[in-house]
Amino acid sequence: MKVVYWLRQDLRIQSNYALSHACAVGEVYPVFIAPQNTGGASKWWLHQSLKSLGDAYQSKDIALALAAGDPIECITTLSNALHADLVVWNRVYTPDGIELGEIMRNALDELNIKHRSFNSQLLLEPTKVFNKQGTPFKVFTPFWRHCRSFLEPQTAPKLSAFKTQSSDPIAALGSHSRSLDELGLTPSNPDWAAEFSEFWSPGEAGAQAQWQEFMDDSVDDYGDGRDFPALGKTSGLSPHLAWGEISPEQIFAECCVAIDSGQADAVNANKFLSEIGWREFCSYLLCHFPHLPEQAFNAKFDAFPWQQNQDYLKAWQQGKTGYPIVDAGMRELWQSGYMHNRVRMIVASFLTKHLMLDWREGADWFWDTLLDADLANNTAGWQWAAGCGADAAPYFRIFNPILQGQKFDKRGEYVRQWVPELATIPDKWLYTPWEAPVEVLEQSNVVLGSTYPMPVVDHKQARELALSTYQQMKAG
Ligand SMILES: Cc1cc2nc3c(=O)[nH]c(=O)nc-3n(C[C@H](O)[C@H](O)[C@H](O)COP(=O)(O)OP(=O)(O)OC[C@H]3O[C@@H](n4cnc5c(N)ncnc54)[C@H](O)[C@@H]3O)c2cc1C
Repeated sequence: MKVVYWLRQDLRIQSNYALSHACAVGEVYPVFIAPQNTGGASKWWLHQSLKSLGDAYQSKDIALALAAGDPIECITTLSNALHADLVVWNRVYTPDGIELGEIMRNALDELNIKHRSFNSQLLLEPTKVFNKQGTPFKVFTPFWRHCRSFLEPQTAPKLSAFKTQSSDPIAALGSHSRSLDELGLTPSNPDWAAEFSEFWSPGEAGAQAQWQEFMDDSVDDYGDGRDFPALGKTSGLSPHLAWGEISPEQIFAECCVAIDSGQADAVNANKFLSEIGWREFCSYLLCHFPHLPEQAFNAKFDAFPWQQNQDYLKAWQQGKTGYPIVDAGMRELWQSGYMHNRVRMIVASFLTKHLMLDWREGADWFWDTLLDADLANNTAGWQWAAGCGADAAPYFRIFNPILQGQKFDKRGEYVRQWVPELATIPDKWLYTPWEAPVEVLEQSNVVLGSTYPMPVVDHKQARELALSTYQQMKAG
């Protein structure tokens, strides 16, 4: 029996329901079709991840076929040419992902090709979880409490040995077949991703190493450490999870075992699991409310008068707002393809409340520059920060970028790393360089407006304007 395995956001071999099933029943023909709407940084990750997965398959004498074009055409062409008996895949829960799965099912039905799909991306099938009223949860805490009341650690069936491929899948794909380089995923001229590999090891092996390191070194400090960007106490798993290089099921199961055996501190490990729960909640919300990437969950925000100001947007994107913690975050993002969660909240609050720019502008920039860009998490994160999402921070809670820096990066290690022009300014003035005496600026080689910008907006005035605009919106 020949089985086409359509890879989507599940670039791993282990803990993989579709692949385990395919291997158990026949010869497996894995194929990945380049998606259309991937952000720039994610494309870089995808290239590295496919390279690593292709090598892993090759070591088992299995060809990983790569393709470009309409997914329906690619899969049906391949299945017909191979005389495949079955097509399998792991489901994707974004609105486009759900729609494509449905179209694929119909197309295969018409050709009388059997198909089967699995959930290997989330802990729970979003369409099977409801509150007591039978409607979708809209608040995280009751959602996660409910899920934890019945979630059991489980793992995908063990992978059986790969059977030899008796046909050539690359030839079978015909004109849809592409080499990795032909997919054109990596930037050149300029190669703005050059530094990413200093920070990351994409691929399943990299994901497993990252996971082990987190469980060995950081999980016990997670609860308190996760808010401090200089400490590096979070897992760094987000890009691996975004491309499915590690399964949430493995994370959940191994964390539960570590808690039960006393290997991991229960409070900290459960806090970590609740962040995996947030990932679950974001995908759940997007599945039930598919318009969220375009529309605010709270419809009142349709009337919010977001500003249009390209100068502000540019200053924010380039990390030149004059607020050191905001600038550090935006530069970390540009150089490493990542930003710490605490700082994501600060820069998102700054964009939507201090600059009063539309949260969708911020979400678009994140989508293009984050290695972990994930439609559900990104949309929910932005709507949370802008105050218009489900279970969001209220709009009137405006992060003070000066106090946030002083609280979460007190000694300035994080800011000094990403904003080197402030490296020698004393702690006392680090978050308010515009208030520093002239001689302090001179000694620190800081020339405001030249080596480091003046603040684009005044914190107090911006806060008052945001609050009064919000009050007007509320009043209708
Ligand atoms: C404005 C904004 C935009 C964001 N955009 C994204 C995005 O595009 N992709 C993305 O994966 N995360 C996004 N997040 C959530 C969060 O910032 C990242 O998941 C986290 O920083 C990743 O680092 P980590 O893997 O070390 O996290 P850890 O703290 O180690 O958490 C483990 C995992 O839990 C999940 N997780 C953690 N926090 C959240 C959260 N708040 N919401 C949903 N899932 C969470 C992630 O999968 C993460 O890898 C966004 C947050 C904000 C405020």
